[in-house]
Amino acid sequence: MKYISEPARDIPVTKVCDVLVCGGGPAGFGAAIGAAKAGQKVIVIERNSIIGGMATAGLMSHWTGNTEGPVLDELLERARGSHTDYNYFGEKILRSKFIIDHEKLSLTMLKMLDEHNVEVMFYTQICDVIMDSNVLQGAIVENKSGRQAVLASKIIDATGDGDVACRAGAPYQLGRETDNAMQPVTLMMQVSGVDYSRAIFPGEFEDNVDVPRGKIQDLAHDYFENPMGHVLLYPSTVEGIVTVNMTNVTGIDGTNNTDISRSQVKLSLQVERVIDFLREYAPGYEQCRLYRTASMIGVRETRHFSCEYTITAEDIEQAKVFDDWIATRCYFNFDIHNIEGAGLDKTGRQNDFVQTERYTIPMRSLIPLKVENLLLAGRSIGGTHMAHSNFRAMAICLNIGQGAGVCAAIANKNKTRLRDNYYPDVRKELISQGVTV
Ligand SMILES: Cc1cc2nc3c(=O)[nH]c(=O)nc-3n(C[C@H](O)[C@H](O)[C@H](O)COP(=O)(O)OP(=O)(O)OC[C@H]3O[C@@H](n4cnc5c(N)ncnc54)[C@H](O)[C@@H]3O)c2cc1C
Repeated sequence: MKYISEPARDIPVTKVCDVLVCGGGPAGFGAAIGAAKAGQKVIVIERNSIIGGMATAGLMSHWTGNTEGPVLDELLERARGSHTDYNYFGEKILRSKFIIDHEKLSLTMLKMLDEHNVEVMFYTQICDVIMDSNVLQGAIVENKSGRQAVLASKIIDATGDGDVACRAGAPYQLGRETDNAMQPVTLMMQVSGVDYSRAIFPGEFEDNVDVPRGKIQDLAHDYFENPMGHVLLYPSTVEGIVTVNMTNVTGIDGTNNTDISRSQVKLSLQVERVIDFLREYAPGYEQCRLYRTASMIGVRETRHFSCEYTITAEDIEQAKVFDDWIATRCYFNFDIHNIEGAGLDKTGRQNDFVQTERYTIPMRSLIPLKVENLLLAGRSIGGTHMAHSNFRAMAICLNIGQGAGVCAAIANKNKTRLRDNYYPDVRKELISQGVTV
């Protein structure tokens, strides 16, 4: 590869804060609120024009699992869709708070951030880190105003892919431990013109619903070319509009721009095939048409950082209550999509996952090896490929974020490193914020 030298230059330090949150998805939102509630001056940097990450820009259908938490519960209640009277099984109910009204959700997140005096820098890409030896000092960002530096006492990487931690030199495992393979990527989309009174809503791969011409998953398997071939349809908050999770591209590294760009094209080209299939085979969808596609592609899995603790599937199955819990009441199944094609991976467990207890996340799983002043939050924390498929659910990421925000705040107040022993004060603050086991 050919290289050129970028000339060294001075860039302005435009902002300084106590806690810098990189990325404004569910984890970044939780982190900002957690730190701000603990009295910190917080800045969130987000490359998109809206807060929410995959939940909003990614056009996500619903908050999966059965996780609880004070910030999460407040958000879901305040962002409850204003129109829906169906749940994601298509049953008539009163406005489920788990189905996402994207506009209302992003506005509610913004309102809550504003209420806690959190500053958000939109349209801002984090492109590098500022290091003093192995101690992270801040981020270098690019936006309309040019290149600039933002400094902070503590930094939380909630970019999903762990872009900041990676630039800072924190070690990680890319994808599955055995071969670096990662879950497929999907462009979420919505169709309109659906007759809700007859529509089917298969929400899991195992939901092989009977339709006039056969069983819906079998029909899709025969109709589409690999790696497409499953049907996942979810009611939205507006009658007649359905959120569709059916485009599918495998073999993509979500941290590689060539891969992301290539998959964006492939996924976009699959959209019309999906609509043709739905019109032909799915009752209620005969007149459906494309309403919109997500403004960011859905990358399920990339970097798993090596942290002071690595969460395993057994920790989740046993619903461990860690001594240093920072997120609690987490619940989801092991949602590993087929790494080579459509449907569920043979190690994934959706409908048949039965667990009554909710699990916790330890503080150690947010602390990366080798880099100081940095915490991870969201889907890139220390966990195995299998465990990640569970804690990647948005509600769990949000709870992890709140925990990370509190850790950063308390470490600042106690003037300690993030990996030092200040956990008792973290627990006290979490409890005062309403987090309970
Ligand atoms: C197709 C798909 C379907 C899914 N379905 C569900 C579902 O139904 N229910 C559910 O609960 N979960 C679902 N998930 C999982 C869930 O969406 C993610 O695991 C979760 O959103 C991760 O949260 P996060 O905050 O860690 O990351 P994200 O939601 O990805 O947020 C990261 C944020 O950081 C920003 N960012 C990233 N890099 C930079 C940078 N360099 N500079 C500035 N900003 C940056 C991004 O713009 C984004 O806003 C799904 C995921 C995918 C991909």
